[in-house]
Amino acid sequence: MTFRNLVYLVASASFAGFAVAQAPKTAQQFLAEPTVQAAMAAIVANEPHFLDEEARLTEIPAPPFHETVRGLELRRLFTAAGLKNVRIDETGNVLGDRPGTAPHPHLVIAAHLDTVFPEGTDVHVKRNGTVMTAPGIGDDGRGLASMLALIAAVQQAKIVTTGSLTFVANVGEEGLGDSRGAKALFEKTLKGQIDEFISIDGTRSSSVVSTGVGSYRYRVTFTGPGGHSYGAFGIGNPIHAMGRAIDHISQMEVPEKPKTTYNVGVVGGGTSVNSVPFESWFEFDERSADVASLDAVDAKFKAAVKAGVEEENAFRKDKGKITVKIVSLGIRPAGQTPVDAPIIQAAKASVEALQLGKFETSASSTDSNVPMHLGIPSMTMGGGGSGKGAHALDESFDSTDSYKGVQNLLLTTLILLQ
Ligand SMILES: [Zn+2]
Repeated sequence: MTFRNLVYLVASASFAGFAVAQAPKTAQQFLAEPTVQAAMAAIVANEPHFLDEEARLTEIPAPPFHETVRGLELRRLFTAAGLKNVRIDETGNVLGDRPGTAPHPHLVIAAHLDTVFPEGTDVHVKRNGTVMTAPGIGDDGRGLASMLALIAAVQQAKIVTTGSLTFVANVGEEGLGDSRGAKALFEKTLKGQIDEFISIDGTRSSSVVSTGVGSYRYRVTFTGPGGHSYGAFGIGNPIHAMGRAIDHISQMEVPEKPKTTYNVGVVGGGTSVNSVPFESWFEFDERSADVASLDAVDAKFKAAVKAGVEEENAFRKDKGKITVKIVSLGIRPAGQTPVDAPIIQAAKASVEALQLGKFETSASSTDSNVPMHLGIPSMTMGGGGSGKGAHALDESFDSTDSYKGVQNLLLTTLILLQ
């Protein structure tokens, strides 16, 4: 039973015999309310401004572990929008409250500050009609902008909710960030206080992420004595060992259902063209929505690495032996919110009432993995518009009808907070 249902039952019981307890309002009933109509109109009117904000925020670099400057700007914007108790936690998450008439249900809505792009990446936004192109423009420039647009709308229309909202611009969603922002939120900053969680990540409005794909990430380092490529020829070569290991990895069989994947994403090492290297390394990730499948591919990966090293050592007759070290770069827990959970049903009702298309649920790896793993009702929603090429330098965002994404966030929020 969810907290909201519980409150509803308690309310029904205490009024039994005196009055008929109010049934939860439907999406259509909310849409008929003048304050909600005012908020919906404000969203349309404000959208050009928030598209400018999306571009402006995207141009503040926020590489992994360097989200501070963008975070400070979000703190300023939260404060300017009139959120209460605006603060930055120890991890760098920026939080702002919008209390309702009751502390619960407490819904947290978050968008991530960080991008996958390293320091020095050109984040200048090019605009061409409805299309904006820049690394991070959709993921998660759109999430931040749509969250700000949602805040502006509820503030301007003076929407009163029963439950309370906390908005969060969080750090560490991408890559090596290892969900550290979301983990800090649930394990420390707001531990035990969050009833429901929505991450706004990316664009598409008609589908929500209800399954959190888990992942393990590693850095694998091969080491040997190293030496001259001619003079020391015949000693174990860490790059050759790595090549053998990657060859084994590339042939690993994984189930299609549940979808299970793996990828060698980055390689490095070596000294010069005429040196047998003393070191090589690669970074690897493997994913599945299913914990057992993830553990199975993990065992295969470790066996592949071991085989690569053993083959190189055997071939070189153990001259200048290669050793290997596997270090974890992060564990993203797997989890799931049942499709019939009220939070997913709220999004479905909103998508249908706003006629955004066929409602769908999907599996992905997002900040919602953390609460899903803890059993806290959660999902990841798009912020509107449409995106292409996430995590690529030519990432683009098309703002056609993007305001509808914000309207969807608003309506979903209202259904959840009554
Ligand atoms: Zn993202």
